[in-house]
Amino acid sequence: MKIISINTGSSSLKFSLFDMKEEKVIASGLFERIGIEGSSYTIKFNGEKLQQEIELNTHTDAVKVLLEKLIDLEIIKSLEEIDGVGHRIVHGKDKYSESVLVNDTVISDLEEYKEFAPLHNPANVLGIRAFKEVLPNVPMAVVFDTAFHQTMDEEAYLYPVPYKWYKEYGVRKYGFHGTSHKYIANAMKDILGREDFKLISCHIGNGGSICAIKDMKSIDTTMGFTPLAGIMMGTRSGDIDPSIIPYVMEKEGKNVGEVLDDLNKSSGLLGMSEFSSDMRDIVSKCDEGDEQVLTARGKYVRRIVDYIAQYYVLLGGADAIVFTAGVGENSVPIRREVCERLACLGVKIDLDLNNGRGETLKISTDDSKIDVYIVPTDEELMIARDTLNLIKNR
Ligand code: ADP
Repeated sequence: MKIISINTGSSSLKFSLFDMKEEKVIASGLFERIGIEGSSYTIKFNGEKLQQEIELNTHTDAVKVLLEKLIDLEIIKSLEEIDGVGHRIVHGKDKYSESVLVNDTVISDLEEYKEFAPLHNPANVLGIRAFKEVLPNVPMAVVFDTAFHQTMDEEAYLYPVPYKWYKEYGVRKYGFHGTSHKYIANAMKDILGREDFKLISCHIGNGGSICAIKDMKSIDTTMGFTPLAGIMMGTRSGDIDPSIIPYVMEKEGKNVGEVLDDLNKSSGLLGMSEFSSDMRDIVSKCDEGDEQVLTARGKYVRRIVDYIAQYYVLLGGADAIVFTAGVGENSVPIRREVCERLACLGVKIDLDLNNGRGETLKISTDDSKIDVYIVPTDEELMIARDTLNLIKNR
């Protein structure tokens, strides 16, 4: 069985083609600058990398070129080999608590939810329509970033604001990165050999969120109505006092959209350090003793620790803390600093094991009160798995 996982942006399309027998990627790549001058694609397969500039006016052009190339490069013999296509969807509101097969209702719902994810949902629909046009008989599924968090209760997802905002406008916490947190929950199920555990999953990349998971269900998460909430990120602020927004609008003569842009793109590590959003740069600058960058890094770690502590209490303890995504999987000093600040909860890591990278690894010591793991996330595989399950159970 072969499944393609797709992540469509407004001018890009990322794919991974999986052979589901071994859950292995047989080709992956990216189509960029779709509808913009200088469009190109990259396909990686068999240890090789093909890169080419090519005119791509629409997402449908990209899908056509992708399928042509898969055959030309003998990655597949014919299109018949593709059993399903899974699409990553950012927002499924509170209607979708799990992945579903695509039909007309699903597409119109995604279009309706565009005001909740204006940059992402319309782009996701472009990807669905393109595959529908080129592969009309191949089943497709949609896998939502929000779905895993639909198990949160009202106390977790409601904001302390007028109830009418929720009832009439859908103002509530939705949470994101659900596909990654679900992948981590499944991975920990395999490691621990049971489902009844309390887990704090820390997806810390350029974007980041933490999720409290009890018995395989999300009970709270740090992102909220949008992915701007929660922990401090590469360029996003995470939680702030909302009264800052009108104050800065007045000071800088900006409108609300411009200040929101500042909070999304010029805040977080980049904003505080005035140096970089990339943790590698931040860590090396800290080694030079730069005070402003050290404070930015300290704040970043503090926000993570604050939420882990909060979720430890919410869960009534924790069996495991997992680090995943770009920073979580790779940054030895950030993991160390987070765990050092959790010492009062009995967290202890082995500094040698903490040097590990790129593979699933327990890094806590035997006498640590909470197990600490690095688990590389794989959202594409999760999308392919869900797609395969839905196709099989049709
Ligand atoms: P995204 O949210 O865009 O998917 P990723 O999960 O790919 O982000 O994480 C990207 C971030 O991971 C980079 O901005 C960088 O800060 C961090 N990162 C990647 N490799 C390392 C590393 N070796 N050490 C520290 N940080 C790293």
